[in-house]
Amino acid sequence: ETSKPGNFITQIIDKDNETGKHGGKVLTRFPPEPNGYLHIGHAKSICLNFGLAQRYQGQCNLRFDDTNPEKESVEYIESIKRDVEWLGFEWKDEPKFASDYFGQLYDFAVQLIKAGKAYVCELNAEQMREYRGTLKEPGKNSPFRDRSVEENLAIFEDMKKGKYADGEVVLRAKIDMASPNINLRDPIIYRVRHVHHHQTGDQWCVYPMYDFTHCLSDAIEGVTHSVCTLEFQDHRPLYDWVLATLGTVHPQQIEFARLNLNYTVTSKRKLKQLVDEQHVNGWDDPRMPTISGLRRRGYTALSIRNFCERIGVTKSDSVVDVGMLEHAIREDLDANANRAMAVLNPIKVVLTNYPEGKEEIFTVSNHPKNEAAGQRQVPFSKELYIDAADFAEVPPRKWKRLTLEGAVRLRGGYVITCDEAIKNDAGDVIELHCRYDENTLGVNPEGYKPKGVIHWVSAKHAVDASVNLYDRLFDNEAPDANYEDKTFLDFINPESLTVLTSAKVEPSLLEAEKGQGFQFEREGYFCRDLKEEGLVFNRTVTLRDSWAK
Ligand code: ATP
Ligand code: MG
Ligand code: MG
Repeated sequence: ETSKPGNFITQIIDKDNETGKHGGKVLTRFPPEPNGYLHIGHAKSICLNFGLAQRYQGQCNLRFDDTNPEKESVEYIESIKRDVEWLGFEWKDEPKFASDYFGQLYDFAVQLIKAGKAYVCELNAEQMREYRGTLKEPGKNSPFRDRSVEENLAIFEDMKKGKYADGEVVLRAKIDMASPNINLRDPIIYRVRHVHHHQTGDQWCVYPMYDFTHCLSDAIEGVTHSVCTLEFQDHRPLYDWVLATLGTVHPQQIEFARLNLNYTVTSKRKLKQLVDEQHVNGWDDPRMPTISGLRRRGYTALSIRNFCERIGVTKSDSVVDVGMLEHAIREDLDANANRAMAVLNPIKVVLTNYPEGKEEIFTVSNHPKNEAAGQRQVPFSKELYIDAADFAEVPPRKWKRLTLEGAVRLRGGYVITCDEAIKNDAGDVIELHCRYDENTLGVNPEGYKPKGVIHWVSAKHAVDASVNLYDRLFDNEAPDANYEDKTFLDFINPESLTVLTSAKVEPSLLEAEKGQGFQFEREGYFCRDLKEEGLVFNRTVTLRDSWAK
């Protein structure tokens, strides 16, 4: 792991290890709030935090930041565990929960009150805003700021006992209402919420705020390097204030740039809206940038880890081209996925000179560049299907497929020449009559040259399949930007899903495992759907990047 290139965070850790700052120990954590499914942005944080632990033979905790019970659920917790494991990482011991520390956090709050560093405030939300001031103007002290320690302790205890209604009182840290950093203007650290919690049930009706919880959870666990995204830079003084004031061990908060991808939305709130309003079919819809969606789309864990490594870790925000993510899976599947033939829009071909009732089996390799991938058997007979797009009666210039009187090679089979296109009353071609050249199995024909190679399946042996052609969910590069008259929902690509229900695939695909990836020759990379019982394939990515830049 140390052979991998470092970044500004590994430089900090290397230095800490030299000076012995954390006793040479590295303990990181990945701290999701269980209020949605993880997305590709979280993958960056996961790869970073677990990657640092691996690099330094340290450890990484999975900790659920569960201080907003209304928005959280056990379903989200389970999905997060599954996704982290699937990405290939192991957390230290059992998963941890901020709610495991509610008792300790309460005691820390009492300790702050006793030190004269926290007070109970009864300003309502609107007054609180008014007193807080603005970036340009300092705030004003709350009239409740100078309550006695005894009074604060008594009210805080009554808050815990349920004697106050939601929003009636809060506990605030006493820091500095004139601080240029608004986060330090007496931030709320506890609030009253009479709500059931998925882990602690009805034990608590006061819940600690994120900024108070996070630093102390880090300290309780003995985290050494608390890595988070840049928007928390302004919260670091508060992080440090809480730990210093309480005199705990002091993890170091380090901020890095979050992942932004073009053509993509990565905000749990917006992803949840896509799900709730049924713009997609659930959190694991293959068009979603969630880890579960990517998995169902056919992305491998390796490709996501490779992507995260390539984009690197920096301190300045930027937008990564989603083409880089697509490149990572294309690269993995090109190297590792078996090839197969699937005809997505079938049209029948009758080989007029092929003996009635005859069948052959061709042995073809599963991977052109990897012998170890082995071979498979592909049946051949008098009637075949090819893709309708591989025949043109009036071909455009440089046509490399089948046309009247033209010849093409069938992948792994014979060269055929088309004699006749049979049409229906509407004039659509419904069947092709062709001749095969029996001397061309693995041999070039004599005296003429086929125009190209096309894929096919034997009509008698082909298996019916359904194919979902997925494309980018948004057709705008920046669906998430601030537009005057539009929201991200206005940029949903109307062609993000095309369902083909009459595909014909080679029989070996009956054995495809759920989730297994393939290159369908000449069509793209596909995987068998993880959920559907029938033979359903999802397009993971096209063979080449077809999005114009
Ligand atoms: P969202 O903004 O999507 O709601 P969040 O930051 O609220 O995300 P958390 O569950 O709190 O979601 O995130 C857990 C960890 O993942 C945090 O440390 C957070 O900084 C990190 N993270 C979230 N989004 C990204 C991203 N786009 N790039 C890198 N790290 C991210
Ligand atoms: Mg968060
Ligand atoms: Mg959030």
